[in-house]
Amino acid sequence: MSPTEPEPDNPAGGRGPVAPGSGWPGDPAEPDTPVAADPGAARHYAESARTLDELDAQVSVCRACPRLVGWREQVAATGRRSYAGQRYWGRPVPGWGVEAPRILLVGLAPAAHGGNRTGRVFTGDRSGDHLAAALHRVGLAAQPTSDHAGDGQRLSGPRGSVRMTAAVHCAPPQNRPDRQEAAACAPWLDAELRLLAPGLAVVVALGGIAWTAALAAIARLGVPSARPRPRFGHGASWQLPQPLPGGSRRVVLLGSYHPSQQNTFTGRLTPAMTDSVLARAAELSDATGGGAPGTGEPWSDGGGGHSRREAGTPAHQDHETTG
Ligand code: SF4
Repeated sequence: MSPTEPEPDNPAGGRGPVAPGSGWPGDPAEPDTPVAADPGAARHYAESARTLDELDAQVSVCRACPRLVGWREQVAATGRRSYAGQRYWGRPVPGWGVEAPRILLVGLAPAAHGGNRTGRVFTGDRSGDHLAAALHRVGLAAQPTSDHAGDGQRLSGPRGSVRMTAAVHCAPPQNRPDRQEAAACAPWLDAELRLLAPGLAVVVALGGIAWTAALAAIARLGVPSARPRPRFGHGASWQLPQPLPGGSRRVVLLGSYHPSQQNTFTGRLTPAMTDSVLARAAELSDATGGGAPGTGEPWSDGGGGHSRREAGTPAHQDHETTG
């Protein structure tokens, strides 16, 4: 099945969701992948996942949040005129990228006509365009574009290896998951961090919500947070005081404004600003010990990067939408 072509029996396209194991490029699930029907089951499957493949498969068929299941499938069924003739994924969008990356990017949630259409995080919308171009410029992606699953993109390059994921894996109405939905999806992020910990050096939180979700996941994995709690900003950073369980390096959490259209169209987030954070992530991922020397205190970006927060710029002015 090609995501960019209508099914022969359905020339109008749309009409998702895609059945697990039916041939969508990169579909991690099979028809018999167990489905989490409620938040308790999602937690159980997340906690028992032993490999990233297993985790991705189970995420991609999760149905724990009734409102989000209804929304993502409704969007997939109706589509959008500009994507007429295209089949929509219409399922949760799992993490994607290198299997044992040094760098993990965490976004908010898939976009209704982006990841929810293409089945790949930060793929097929303006946020993905901004991010892919930046990753390629910095030397962390093979191509400057991320159009659709199966487009040949790879999240690795001369400067390192990357995986992308989201705090919430289903496209939410108005780009806003509610509190229960965010809580239901949190075990998937915990499990992803647990499985990636052995090789992970840097987590880049794209937006304040992802920053908060990453801090919470790190705390749930048993790493104490700093006091006061590290504050989000573009270029903000916090080096964990100890490795994640199963890891050997003290991971650094970096903050970046979310590459939403509200941020990129208004110039709040420029390509140079995203390049700066990603270049810093690449630099840190190579550094012995996973970051700047210190005691776990936040440290300054330095070296021509952006300040931990632009003067007078409160975190809430980082406009987030999904991607
Ligand atoms: S948001 Fe997360 S927990 Fe809720 S249905 Fe989607 S994948 Fe499952």
